[in-house]
Amino acid sequence: MGIIISGTKLAATRKETLRQAIVEAKLKYDRVPRLAVILVGNDVGSISYVKGKEKAALEVGINITTYHYDDSITEKELEDKIISLNHDNTVDGILVQLPLPKHIKQDKIIDLISPNKDVDGFHPYNVASLYLKHEGILPCTPKGVIALLDSKNISIEGKRAVVVGRSNIVGMPLAKMLLDRNATVTICHSKTKDLKEITKEADILIACLGKAKFITGNMVKDGVTVIDVGINRDKETNKLCGDVDFDSVYPHAAYITKVPGGVGPMTICCLLENTYIAYLNQFKRN
Ligand code: NAP
Repeated sequence: MGIIISGTKLAATRKETLRQAIVEAKLKYDRVPRLAVILVGNDVGSISYVKGKEKAALEVGINITTYHYDDSITEKELEDKIISLNHDNTVDGILVQLPLPKHIKQDKIIDLISPNKDVDGFHPYNVASLYLKHEGILPCTPKGVIALLDSKNISIEGKRAVVVGRSNIVGMPLAKMLLDRNATVTICHSKTKDLKEITKEADILIACLGKAKFITGNMVKDGVTVIDVGINRDKETNKLCGDVDFDSVYPHAAYITKVPGGVGPMTICCLLENTYIAYLNQFKRN
């Protein structure tokens, strides 16, 4: 039977390390890291994600402020807020909870965040830094996936990695990170033909397509490592589930993550770590 990689446990260990580092850094810099979160509207999912981030930030000693705006906020008002946070030296990280309402151009808002404070790693500067192998802020979910693999010393070099999903925030950066670790990477998407033939070749399979329990036992080979990024609602039970049908895939897997308790906690953990990095960088620059 496979080994379940617990994102909950790994995140707890890393958050404790971070908490201690922040206690020490405060003695040196006389303040703790500060994260500003912008939340627009009353989407239940977004509010719950932000609450999770607030709780985790407080646990590690990061000062977090959420600016919660009504749906009616204009693009200009939001831009002005980002500009003022960019100029505020006491703010190390800025996170805009996505999605934004339709009347606000998401890309325009993300592009306005100072790359130094872009703790989600979504700004074009940080995206380009990843592709050019320059120093920058890495996106949280892909970073968390690599940390999960590393936590079990799962070797990536020379392995056949298959990433199902090609979004700018998960699939594409993750594929690049796996490539940089010398995996042979295949990226699949909604137009991929014979998907099963490809996933069956994977030594490392990353499911990030956003379709509940889509990857089933007959789509993987024995000994595969499976990382399930998906967060979906099971239509029958209404419970949270991943993109992987855990029950049928688990018997084939050497290592596997679960939903919940896998990638999700690591995404938040990496957000906190990115905020700490942005904080340290701010003192290095000044
Ligand atoms: P997304 O922007 O909707 O992208 C989904 C990708 O999957 C697209 O590239 C799409 O292909 C591909 N796809 C869709 N149906 C497919 C199919 N039948 N076969 C193969 N590929 C298919 O989603 P995302 O933002 O990357 O998120 C993916 C999942 O991860 C969601 O469940 C999301 O909730 C979850 N997520 C979790 C975390 C976390 O912290 N755990 C963080 C972020 C996202 P095309 O490009 O051809 O459309």
